[in-house]
Amino acid sequence: MIYDLIIIGLGPAGLTAGIYAARYKLKTLIIGRDLGQTAEAWLIENYPGFQDIKGMELIEKFKEHAEKLGVEIMQMVPVNHIKKENSIFVVKTGDDQEFRAKSIILAIGMQKRKMGIPGEKNFLGKGVSYCATCDAAFFNNKVVGVVGGSDSAATAALMLSEHAKMVYIIYRKDALRAQPAWVEKINKNPKIKTIFNAIPKELKGDDVLKSVVIERAGKTEEIALDGIFFEIGYKPETNL
Ligand SMILES: Cc1cc2nc3c(=O)[nH]c(=O)nc-3n(C[C@H](O)[C@H](O)[C@H](O)COP(=O)(O)OP(=O)(O)OC[C@H]3O[C@@H](n4cnc5c(N)ncnc54)[C@H](O)[C@@H]3O)c2cc1C
Repeated sequence: MIYDLIIIGLGPAGLTAGIYAARYKLKTLIIGRDLGQTAEAWLIENYPGFQDIKGMELIEKFKEHAEKLGVEIMQMVPVNHIKKENSIFVVKTGDDQEFRAKSIILAIGMQKRKMGIPGEKNFLGKGVSYCATCDAAFFNNKVVGVVGGSDSAATAALMLSEHAKMVYIIYRKDALRAQPAWVEKINKNPKIKTIFNAIPKELKGDDVLKSVVIERAGKTEEIALDGIFFEIGYKPETNL
């Protein structure tokens, strides 16, 4: 069986491409490792037609839309390799299946940027996280930090404040650059404290994370916390 099109990536880009392909009556398969970044979004408030909607709910709607139009979807399946045999693309998945198509679209999104400080790798899963939606519930009544000042950092902090007893936003500049609507919510939230002009330098702990060392105005300070979430941007996914 040869598909007209295989799309790799089950985020909004891949699913939108799938919806268009189906409308052009192309026999289409979408393969995705997961549902992409949208699934991590706690609340989306800028998608026209929905005043607010959970990211997971929105991406499930995209998926349902594509499926209703006849697009085949394989979820939780990584693609490991793509090669070309004559004019046909051969897509090999992590479970050793092969799929063939006349064309492919890569819609593989981005990956979270790492801070690259001592302790970051050691405490991954032991206090260090890159996904508030996934891990917030582990920090009920704990103290956490969020590094960054963008929309992602702001929404992560707001979400974490529903679980943690205290959330420190640690940001290298002197004002958050998130949308004012998020900043307003942060400023009104008594559980969130923003530390400006601060750069994390090291994470410390024993079996689990215990503190972050920050540099502020040329001095170092140590803040005790149980978890830290890095929301410092993305870089293009280049795994294929
Ligand atoms: C916490 C958070 C909150 C956000 N909130 C908002 C918001 O409120 N409003 C807004 O407009 N945007 C928001 N965004 C951004 C939005 O989610 C992204 O812009 C959007 O998801 C990008 O879509 P994409 O399809 O390009 O990539 P992604 O959503 O990243 O999807 C990439 C897809 O590629 C797949 N993939 C990658 N490599 C492989 C491989 N080798 N094999 C198989 N599959 C692979 C992934 O599994 C995934 O399915 C938010 C993002 C995050 C993380």
